[in-house]
Amino acid sequence: MKALVYHGPGKKAWEEVPDPQIQLPTDVIVRVDTTTICGTDLHILKGDVPAVTEGRILGHEGVGTVTEIGPAVSTIEVGDRVLISCICSCGSCSYCHQGLYAHCLADEGASGIGWILGHLIDGTQAEMVRIPFADNSLYRLPEHVPDEAALLLSDIFPTGFEMGVQYGQVKPGVTVAVVGAGPVGLAVIATAGLYGAAQIVAIDLDENRLDLAKQVGATHCINSGTADWKQQVIALTDGYGVDVAVEAVGVPATFTMCTDLVRPGGHVANVGVHGTSVQLDLQNLWIQNITISMGLVNTTTLPMLLKLVAQGKLPATELVTHRFELDDITSAYETFGNAAETHALKVMMSR
Ligand code: NAD
Ligand code: ZN
Repeated sequence: MKALVYHGPGKKAWEEVPDPQIQLPTDVIVRVDTTTICGTDLHILKGDVPAVTEGRILGHEGVGTVTEIGPAVSTIEVGDRVLISCICSCGSCSYCHQGLYAHCLADEGASGIGWILGHLIDGTQAEMVRIPFADNSLYRLPEHVPDEAALLLSDIFPTGFEMGVQYGQVKPGVTVAVVGAGPVGLAVIATAGLYGAAQIVAIDLDENRLDLAKQVGATHCINSGTADWKQQVIALTDGYGVDVAVEAVGVPATFTMCTDLVRPGGHVANVGVHGTSVQLDLQNLWIQNITISMGLVNTTTLPMLLKLVAQGKLPATELVTHRFELDDITSAYETFGNAAETHALKVMMSR
């Protein structure tokens, strides 16, 4: 088969590799019908994720059709159209029992880490992929949900909802500020209303992304390139700050923007993946009774979010901006990597 193989920092190729095989009784093989590229893949390609070794097939999102099942798989059948979760989890270890799939203790890839696809084992940017613990890592798709709508549920929507909205403890009537309106920030914006947020404020430097934010549920859009962006946000509250500030970028400056915006008693939900340490002004923050949360997505809410997508209640397809053939994945990477010019948000590659 053909697959997108990582060959060290800055190097990748769509090339011929051996077909994946069933290795454990709980595995299935999925023919990939649709996949996409995540910002994390760009980090890997820069060499920022040293756990990814040369020869690894990238990708952790996808929709496909099951072609082969291991003898211990009980809920998935050959021919099923499935959504692949970015987290593979055994479902029976002590962390899985707590819903912390992100820290599954099974020793596929590495014990204690559920994000293994395109990281510690071969991923979804390929014609076929082996999925471990298929009963707990794959979700059968209703026929009328197109690949394009389902694709966002592998990672983007569960991440925004679980790490932003749920960890941020969004409640009826609150004001939520979301710093960063990339796919993940937009997923926070699109799901904050599920828990009754009254005001959802999108903050980004890119007007194009702020426009999209408005389409998917932001009540207010503020460009943080303006001198008085902070006053503009605070003016939307009673003057004390927002109830929930969600960081969806992954750099120190935007984390500080969140601690600056949050009111006493509020929540800062960090969703971004950080590559360096951030300044935490505890000397000012301790007296404000602020809760700070962070984490790797579990995807435990995926079935619920899939129900909403199936009912047309989540704006999933709006985030897909570019479409490519699967074997033209190199052009897809160029478009996605050059988002400032191409305005690419989510690129989709299909057979
Ligand atoms: P992205 O790069 O597409 O979007 C980031 C957005 O932030 C862009 O729109 C950019 O214009 C904006 N931005 C940059 N600097 C800004 C500033 N100073 N002020 C306001 N906006 C600014 O990223 P994405 O794909 O949406 O992902 C967001 C983050 O979530 C990344 O760090 C990603 O690695 C992380 N992530 C976390 C998890 C998890 O499990 N916690 C899962 C997936 C992704
Ligand atoms: Zn487990």
